Amino acid sequence: MKEIVVLGAGYAGLKTVVLLQKKLKDSIHITLVDQNDYHYEATDLHEVAAGTQGVSRISYHIRDVIKPRITTFIQAKVVKIDPEQRAVKLAGHDDLLHYDYCVIGLGFVSETFGVPGAEENAFPMTNLKEASAIYNHIISKMRDYRKTQNPDDLHIIICGGGFTGIELAGALVEARPSYAKIAGVTPDKIKITLVEAATRLLPMFNEKLADYGVDLIKESNVQLLDGSRISKIDPGTVYYKHADESQDQSMDAGTIIWTTGVSGSPLMKESGFDEKRGRVMVTPHLTAPKHDDVYILGDVAAVMPPDGKRPYPTTAQIALAMADYAADDIATRIKTGKHEEKAFVYKSLGTVASYGNTKAYGTALGHELRGYPASVMKKIIADRSLMETGGLKELLAKGRFDLYH
Ligand code: NAD
Repeated sequence: MKEIVVLGAGYAGLKTVVLLQKKLKDSIHITLVDQNDYHYEATDLHEVAAGTQGVSRISYHIRDVIKPRITTFIQAKVVKIDPEQRAVKLAGHDDLLHYDYCVIGLGFVSETFGVPGAEENAFPMTNLKEASAIYNHIISKMRDYRKTQNPDDLHIIICGGGFTGIELAGALVEARPSYAKIAGVTPDKIKITLVEAATRLLPMFNEKLADYGVDLIKESNVQLLDGSRISKIDPGTVYYKHADESQDQSMDAGTIIWTTGVSGSPLMKESGFDEKRGRVMVTPHLTAPKHDDVYILGDVAAVMPPDGKRPYPTTAQIALAMADYAADDIATRIKTGKHEEKAFVYKSLGTVASYGNTKAYGTALGHELRGYPASVMKKIIADRSLMETGGLKELLAKGRFDLYH
């Protein structure tokens, strides 16, 4: 009986478990470890942060998808992976976990790039607890305004205009009327600012599509400060420098959210893997270069496309594709002693950014999509991921069906 230890119940880890449970019913035991007892859809965190979706709509219990006969779930923090000893140390557990195969899917953390005060004075949005904390803070600021009448309480600054920052802006715009009601003001008084260092937003899209995305931001009465690099965050104050100006400027706000990018789990470095920003360049079979029994998937992995210039961006889509491959490869190795003949190949279905619940834009299967059709596509992608890992039960309970009619 082979022992497979899976670290992390995110997109990559949990899907690997679900697939292995189907593929290798009697010849394996799986130990799944996560610090939480639930899985959440990380692509929807911005909606929880804005309050347009509740926590329970984007998460489900891990016990709902594991088969106890094959899989043991341990709720604990991973302290260290020791690939030489083929062992994993967990917080609060004296015994090490030993494995024949280890699957690491430990996900991402917020990257501050050393900007002073960012860690202490801005809210990260990398997990469900952080997203909920943002929502609770926004609401408390709206309530404060009734007493203080300080317009800064109504101001929300998003630091970093990548996909995460832009999707968050769209969700905040959608929630604006509800904030206004709590604060006792008209929606236009809720100020949302997006600060981005680059002058050209959405660089992965062609200029026309990127302009469409920028127009959506501007038309929705979000102040966009592009070409503005954030240099420091004090409590309630963001300092930034515009490319054309020599001096820092500053802005005050009741809520400051940090979305300038992510890196892979610090555990990769702490466990001695050769990594850059928490990402390990994996072999064609998605294993660690010096440890073929360790699979590294999702945001802690770097996979080079055939053109070999830069690794693929980390997305839920590639994490799920990596889980498909790793489960096949592990099953093949257990049955035949050899890897899959073919290396991992990634075919992106496309990239769609949402802007609120009914607007989106992007590319899917080679086509450009905008507005309502893009929004439907985004929901189809999300529902597919729910179905593949959570199964029909989670899809029916939490799927996005509101746009299919
Ligand atoms: P990102 O790295 O893509 O974007 C961060 C942005 O912050 C960049 O535009 C960068 O210029 C800006 N920035 C960095 N430092 C700054 C500073 N000091 N001042 C001002 N701006 C600064 O990070 P992300 O948006 O969190 O996305 C992470 C990954 O997840 C990406 O690969 C992204 O494609 C993916 N993602 C995909 C989707 C989707 O497919 N819909 C949604 C969210 C995230």
